[in-house]
Amino acid sequence: MCLSRGEWINNMAAKPITIAGGGLAGLTLGIGLRRRDVPVTVWEAGHYPRHRVCGEFISGRGRETLSQLGLRELLERAGAVNAGTAAFFSATQSTPPRSLPVRAICLSRFVMDQLLANEFQKLGGELRVGRRWPAVEVHASACSDRPKPELQPEGIVHATGRRLQTKEGGARWFGLKAHARNVSLAADLEMHVSPRGYVGLCRVEGGAVNVCGLFRRRVGGEHTPHNWREWLRGQGGSPLNRRLAAAEFDESSFCAVAGISLRPQSAAARAECCVGDAITMIPPVTGNGMSMAFESAGMAIEPLAAWSRGEISWAETRQMLACRCDAAFARRLAWAKWLQRMMLTPSLQNILVRFVSRSEWFWRMAFERTR
Ligand SMILES: Cc1cc2nc3c(=O)[nH]c(=O)nc-3n(C[C@H](O)[C@H](O)[C@H](O)COP(=O)(O)OP(=O)(O)OC[C@H]3O[C@@H](n4cnc5c(N)ncnc54)[C@H](O)[C@@H]3O)c2cc1C
Repeated sequence: MCLSRGEWINNMAAKPITIAGGGLAGLTLGIGLRRRDVPVTVWEAGHYPRHRVCGEFISGRGRETLSQLGLRELLERAGAVNAGTAAFFSATQSTPPRSLPVRAICLSRFVMDQLLANEFQKLGGELRVGRRWPAVEVHASACSDRPKPELQPEGIVHATGRRLQTKEGGARWFGLKAHARNVSLAADLEMHVSPRGYVGLCRVEGGAVNVCGLFRRRVGGEHTPHNWREWLRGQGGSPLNRRLAAAEFDESSFCAVAGISLRPQSAAARAECCVGDAITMIPPVTGNGMSMAFESAGMAIEPLAAWSRGEISWAETRQMLACRCDAAFARRLAWAKWLQRMMLTPSLQNILVRFVSRSEWFWRMAFERTR
């Protein structure tokens, strides 16, 4: 990269930013900052490309945010599928395909994270793969066990993804995902609910179907399936089981996560500067977590660039970002919590599917409020 004298002087004066975590939020933020000539290093504990547990369905403001960040075309050139319909299934009820009020984008994380990592490096970002950012020991004050914001090192942004939680209300959450072939879908997204959790199916690049489920296992609870295929295929006789009857799973794409916390958190409560799931995780049923990762990264670019130029303090940067994120996400988090609770209550599942089937107003309202 050839810099003019002015750009060189600017670069020398700019304070560097370190991003811990090279998932969607960290890489998107890194790209945005590099476009403003901020020196950035991203630390990523894993490697690229890699599969991740994710429904791979970017809905809500995600598509528009990607356009604003100049990244949508990159994803579309890589074969991202545009999705326009969704259908919902319980054990006994189903909806016809419903039009999505805003179109979604489906692309595997295997391709997407690698694309963003390449773009970040192309823009001059430093990417340290296989390097875990150390958890900093920050001593709490005598009267509170929460680390103080002013004790956090400056210039570090946490994009380390979801926080671990082993149990929530006596149950353990875990997620499974694998790509499959030989599956035909009734809509661009199929969402199947069952007493165990829910499974989403959507087509990604190259004609594969992503099969991704979030499940709840009660500690010391009922009989559970023996392997991941049984979990993903659903109970015998269910619409999901029929849909996946001839599915051929790609073993190499299988992955699993556990220790998921779905309790909404506020960015202002965090001592660190955070983006993406490191702030909070929205229930995956909304297909909005990736959008929130892109949105929060987008909201972080200007304050962090201003800090890098020495225009605002680190405390102001952190506060500005936290206020923006909380204002943008609080309402959808509250609605998503309510929707997820309904979807996981067996006695309400059929009612919910019937409502979506019969009422365009209800469907649009539930979609809009959770995004
Ligand atoms: C079952 C399930 C289904 C989902 N389905 C969807 C869906 O359909 N649509 C949707 O929009 N969202 C979905 N999500 C949510 C979505 O996957 C997340 O919201 C999104 O990945 C958040 O991006 P992120 O960059 O914040 O975190 P991540 O993508 O998790 O990235 C965090 C990165 O940080 C790295 N890291 C962690 N700690 C360190 C460290 N100390 N040092 C260095 N690196 C570190 C990790 O290796 C990882 O690469 C789903 C989630 C689950 C669990």
